[in-house]
Amino acid sequence: MARIVRVALEMVDLPPQAVRTDAIQSFQSQETPLVTVTDADGATGTGYSYTIGTGGPAVMSLLRETLAPRLVGREAEEVEAIWRDLLFATHATAVGAITSLALAAIDTALWDLRCRRAGLPLWRMAGGAQRSVPLYSTEGGWLHIDTPALVEDALAVRERGFAGAKIKVGRPALAEDSRRLAAVRAAVGDDFRLMVDANQAFAFHEALLRARMLADHGVTWFEEPMPADDVAGHARLAAASPVPVAVGESLYSPGQFADYLRSGALAIVQADVARVGGITPWLKVAHMAEAANLAVCPHFLMELHVSLVCAVPNGWMLEYIPQLDAIATSRPDIREGRAHPPATPGLGIDWDRAEIARRAVPGASAVFREGR
Ligand code: MG
Repeated sequence: MARIVRVALEMVDLPPQAVRTDAIQSFQSQETPLVTVTDADGATGTGYSYTIGTGGPAVMSLLRETLAPRLVGREAEEVEAIWRDLLFATHATAVGAITSLALAAIDTALWDLRCRRAGLPLWRMAGGAQRSVPLYSTEGGWLHIDTPALVEDALAVRERGFAGAKIKVGRPALAEDSRRLAAVRAAVGDDFRLMVDANQAFAFHEALLRARMLADHGVTWFEEPMPADDVAGHARLAAASPVPVAVGESLYSPGQFADYLRSGALAIVQADVARVGGITPWLKVAHMAEAANLAVCPHFLMELHVSLVCAVPNGWMLEYIPQLDAIATSRPDIREGRAHPPATPGLGIDWDRAEIARRAVPGASAVFREGR
């Protein structure tokens, strides 16, 4: 029986490996909530979530006060029932980032447990569509980085066999964004993909002007051009833009993705397994996208998303931003610019338990047990 008899909560705060700045924010830290479930047979599963520096205590509070106590005694294999019941347990706070991030930490733990019990790696358990996927790098394209360094990083990742690089846009002048892209394009040539990301910075008129400019540089997609809750605006832009529009990292439920798909408001689906509420809803979004002939290129969380993009046939590229090196002993398997999913049962992340204990945020930990 996979009856859950113990649930443990922890949170660690990880410094980013590089300074990360975009058009609207600076990425200060990675608060990382961790949930470990143990079943009656002694099998365990660990899942996680993240913030980019704020909101972690709210996620932990929701887990501790509302969600984790309701997990104890549940049959762990019933992931759909658990996900739905936990959502409804906190229904008046959903749809929203805090609820989805908390649900994701639990749902990814349940999938880790399920895969371990079955002896299967996640990429196979969830579909097994592809053995590897191409990578693109974001780590050298942040908005504060000067043009010579942008060029240098793009050349370096091209040398490693990566398919492309993402450059942040949103410098005050359109011409400055254009000059930065032109310099990179001139250096890397035509056979290397360039993606750009505005992190929701623009009003409609500016998004349209910049979209037209991006076409001159052979850009593969224009990511988060405007505030993500403006579905109608994205539909208008998508109809007028010569460059495909990418959205998803700031959407928090499958229903929000369904609105985008129905509106024809995006071309690249960037579902984030933490922000959408876990693997269970992520797969629904990916399958919905496949039915609409859209590719999925998830946001961040490369250590987990590698298994998910390989699980589905429409998983296209994986975003390279290392996240868990400080608290995991496993490393992403990257060969000739392609990412290969872990072959070990579960999520394939080998947690460094001593380091997690050392970094644990004081007061965030809690344990719930059956019968107490
Ligand atoms: Mg982005």
